[in-house]
Amino acid sequence: MSRLRIGLAANRAHQDRPDSALVRLLREGRSAIDTLQSHFTVVGRTLDAIHSHGLLADYPSIERFPYGREGGLMKLVSRVVDPDPERLLDAVIYLIDPVDPSSNFPEALALKRQCVIHGKPFLSTLAGAREWFELEAVAAGAAPDPSLDACFDLPREGIALIAHDAMKSKMLELAERHFALLDQFGMRCATGTTGGLLNELAMRIKGEAGRNWVRPFRSGPLGGDAQIAELILERQCRRVLFLEDPHVARQHEADIQLLERAARTVTDYASCSSDEGGVERWLSLMARRSGLRS
Ligand code: PGA
Repeated sequence: MSRLRIGLAANRAHQDRPDSALVRLLREGRSAIDTLQSHFTVVGRTLDAIHSHGLLADYPSIERFPYGREGGLMKLVSRVVDPDPERLLDAVIYLIDPVDPSSNFPEALALKRQCVIHGKPFLSTLAGAREWFELEAVAAGAAPDPSLDACFDLPREGIALIAHDAMKSKMLELAERHFALLDQFGMRCATGTTGGLLNELAMRIKGEAGRNWVRPFRSGPLGGDAQIAELILERQCRRVLFLEDPHVARQHEADIQLLERAARTVTDYASCSSDEGGVERWLSLMARRSGLRS
């Protein structure tokens, strides 16, 4: 297996405490990290925090990037699109505190956007990053981590499915290909138009039983994103698959950001995947991880 190259940064609120998201990710995910033998490119203050907690002290493959104020996060964006495979990142973990102004600096927004465009996972919550390490480690042959089993008990889990107009046919293809996995979730919900299309698909596959396969909320531009955000904040829906169109101006950009902000607010619980390739891989690896349990 080729070594994964991961960019890593965390906002301050996720760095300093002994139970911060950064510390928990590196402690609880250490065995998966060792399985994957990933290479880390870490922004300066985040790396200082890691070392001050005594973490990754013996880790063989870490590249130090400058502090944020010296352009560390800006340089990370360039690595997402780098033509040199020795520099190109495969994934970015940026643990975001949604009330930290730096999480809305241009480089932070561009980092996510370029990840979506170039099909790299952009992991902005503890739960999303932890799950990503787990799924990739299991795919690489590691035993599943039993402390995460509850998260993979799909009949007790909710999932939200959202696709912008240019991505709706992709969403339908993915949902059809991974129908068996999505069907295991205890609750599926979607924004209005996406939800209507998914229910049509489910009726084609399951007949009448598919009529209310997903719970449709309002259309995204009419407040559906905000309704799904509330479910996340109430811990009724942990995962969001949001096939975004990064190439158009979106009149409801604020609603889209609100939904992502909700996921980041409950960093230990929620996750949001926004690119087609990442969603496809996530669905395949989830099937494997949940199948391994039974
Ligand atoms: P829709 O909403 O499923 O109602 O089209 C998605 C969006 O555009 O946010």
